[in-house]
Parts: sequence; C-alpha cells; structure tokens
Amino acid sequence: MTALEIGGEALPQERKIVTEIPGPKSREIEARRSTAVATGVGSSLPAYVVAAGGGILKDVDGNQLIDLGSGIAVTTAGNANPRVVKAATEQLEAFTHTCFMVNPYESYVEVAEALNRLTPGDHEKRTVLLNSGAEAVENAVKIARAHTNRDAVVVFDHAYHGRTNLTMAMTAKAHPYKAGFGPFAGEVYRAPMSYPFRDNDAAGTKVSGEEAAKRVMTMIDKQIGAENVAAIVIEPIQGEGGFIVPAEGFLPTLVEYARENGIVFVADEVQAGFARTGKMFASEWEEIVPDLITTAKGIAGGLPLSAVTGRAEIMDSVGPGRLGGTYGGNPTACAAALGAIEAYENDGLLERATQIGELITDRLVKLQDTYPEIGDIRGRGAMVAAEFVKRDSIDPNPELVKDLAAYAAKNGVLVLTTGTFGNVLRFLPPLTISDELLNDAFDVLEAGLAELLG
Ligand SMILES: *Cc1c(COP(=O)(O)O)cnc(C)c1O
Repeated sequence: MTALEIGGEALPQERKIVTEIPGPKSREIEARRSTAVATGVGSSLPAYVVAAGGGILKDVDGNQLIDLGSGIAVTTAGNANPRVVKAATEQLEAFTHTCFMVNPYESYVEVAEALNRLTPGDHEKRTVLLNSGAEAVENAVKIARAHTNRDAVVVFDHAYHGRTNLTMAMTAKAHPYKAGFGPFAGEVYRAPMSYPFRDNDAAGTKVSGEEAAKRVMTMIDKQIGAENVAAIVIEPIQGEGGFIVPAEGFLPTLVEYARENGIVFVADEVQAGFARTGKMFASEWEEIVPDLITTAKGIAGGLPLSAVTGRAEIMDSVGPGRLGGTYGGNPTACAAALGAIEAYENDGLLERATQIGELITDRLVKLQDTYPEIGDIRGRGAMVAAEFVKRDSIDPNPELVKDLAAYAAKNGVLVLTTGTFGNVLRFLPPLTISDELLNDAFDVLEAGLAELLG
C-alpha cells in the first residue's frame, strides 16, 4: 500500500456540497444535542459525520468535506485505515477487555516494544500505556517526581498539555481551558518560550535558540533552583500554542542543561509525534534524545491510547501497582496501534508528510505575496501553520482567521484555528489525502482571502 491507496476506495475523493453546511439533517441533530450534551463541549464544524477516509469527511446530509484537521492530528495514517480496522476488528471479536493489571495480553507488550524501538535514542527503555494525552503527561510528571524526589515542573508560554487538574496547570491559555476551573496543582512554573516570529520582531534583532534557552535557564536558576526541578516538559513543536517551532539550538541547549542538573527532560509529542512532521517524532529534527516521551493522538488511528516511553532507570523507579488504570492499553486500542504503526513504517507515510508540507507551504508562500496579513508560515512536514496579522504590523488578526475558517467550512473545507492569540490557521491533513484535494482546499482558501480582503 502507499499513502494514497489507503482509504480512497469506499469514498470518492472529491469535495461535494449538496446542502448548505451544516445541512438540515445536521441541524436537526444539533438541536437535539443542545438539550442532551453539555455545552462545555464545543465543535469546530457541526456537520455530523457518517463516513471518512482518504482526505474526505462525509456528513449526514451527503456533503463531502476536505479534512485538513485529522480530528486534531489523530487520523494521521488515514481515517478508518484498513490496517487499523482489520487489527481492531479481529481483537474485538476475540475479547474486548481483561484489564492489563488483572490478566495481561501480548499486544500491550508489542506496543511497548514498538515504542521503545521507534522513539529517539538507543538506550534501554520502558513504556506504560494509558488512555489520553493528558493522562500520559500526568504520568510522566509522576514518574519524574518519583525518580528525582523533587517537586517542581517547568513548562512554557503557549504550552498545551491537557484538561485534567495537573495538565490545566501546565497549559498556558486561560480561555477556554483554565478560567474558573482552579485552584490548580502547585509547583508548576512557566518559562519563556522561543517564538522566533514574535521574539525576533520585538527585539529588532534575531534571538537565537541558545539565547532563548538562556532566558529559561536563568529563570530556573533564579526563581526555582535547578536542584528543585523534577522535570522540564515541552512540546518540540507547540500544537495549541500555534505550531511554534523554537529557534534552532533551543531544545538541544535545554536537554544539555537538564542532564547537567539531574532534571528529567520530557518531550510532549502528543500532537507532533507519529510521522506528522515527516519524521517519526519531532524530537528527531534536532536530534535530541528526551528522557521521557509522551505520545497519544496519532498512535492508534483514532482509538483512545497514550503512552509514556523513556529511560528504563527512570521509568522503573516507580514500583509495581503504582501506575496504570482500568482501561490503560485496552486490547482493541493496542491492536489498532499495531496496525497504525505498521502503516507508518510500511506505507510511505513519512515521505508523504514531507510532500504534503511542501505543497501547503508553496501555496501559503504564494498567498503571502498578495496578502501580507499572512505574517508567518511555519511548521514541519504535514504540521504547517500560517499566523495572521494586521497589515503592516505583527498585531494578531484573529477576526480574519475566524472568518476565513468559516468561509472554508461553508465551502466544504474543514480547517482548524489555533494559537494563543487565536490568529493561526493550522493544517493537519491525514497523510492519505491527495494533492488534488489539497490544491482544491487551497483554491477555496484563496477565494476566501480574496472575498474577505478584496
Ligand atoms: C492534545 C494534547 C494533549 C492532551 O491530549 P488529550 O488526549 O486531549 O488528553 C497533551 N499534549 C499535547 C501537546 C496535545 O496536543
């Protein structure tokens, strides 16, 4: 199989609009939803899905949307990827659950072996499986604290690590994630991020990765004391923060500092991991070797699974019975993960991520010529974003991004917004999308910009 042969069969790979979006059937379900589902759960585009594959989402009214979101970087290997479906279906028919903590099964061990093999570094590793990205981050912190016998956790501006109490404390953005949900877990300290687009402009000169790292190290030394820090937790490319790629040298300098000071360096690869950036893990771009890596989103083709993988001596500093959970490493999710990993390793998905990134970046660069409101284009592989600003400034332009995403949705293109300032369009298509669909989606965005900016 190649990336483009996956999932294209059942669903014609074309954008199709047969009603307004969302259509009448979606709106009917949406009305029921408003009296049944808690309002705290939002939806970017309330067109109710009945099928998905390749680069298409089909809704209940028969519209076919181009998927530039992959359910937030989850269906990277393609929605309903046949390898995932086959493995998960066979497992479902055999048994659905035992609880690995009661009666274990082989697929859990196989997923752990695969993660130990695939994550950066050839040292001995161990893995624990959990359910969600937030749960993986929580467990990484538990393990780092137990290993170091220290309390403090360092996180960054613009960070996103989840919605549980500890991970809310670690997440930067107040609205909508934190406001009113406190008090938050203690001993979480926020350090300045390397954000080249805004760093460089504000200072008038370029802030190098090493200089940006120095700000962090000074902050830790002066405000916390390195000897009190259990873990530095960072997304190698920030997801919800706006696909911020730190300046070269930032991550390696922090890894070195962590190592010198006995601090556990945790790479949160929940969004950037699993072939998304054109490498299996984003940490590989600067050849850093994190002590612990958290993974989730792309891991199992859409089934809920997450993991903490890392150095054996750190992972094993927590004794038996101290980690786990009822569903952690559920057998169907494990089978699905083995199917997804098989796809990442055999179906040309890494190369496809690189090609997709080039196509998207080309289209954005051309648009930027006409529309200087596109202030910055950044990302790696098929994790690309455009940060929008007001003309002749770097003031964030969230209104334009909101209007453009709405224009795209109305015209059958699902694109997600992100960023601390809400002024970033992010592109995270499944790696099984065709060039034709990508170009069609960008034709829609181009028409949208023309309509909105004249
Ligand atoms: C989405 C995300 C999380 C949280 O994952 P959930 O599965 O939603 O709990 C944590 N870290 C990063 C970097 C993420 O993108």
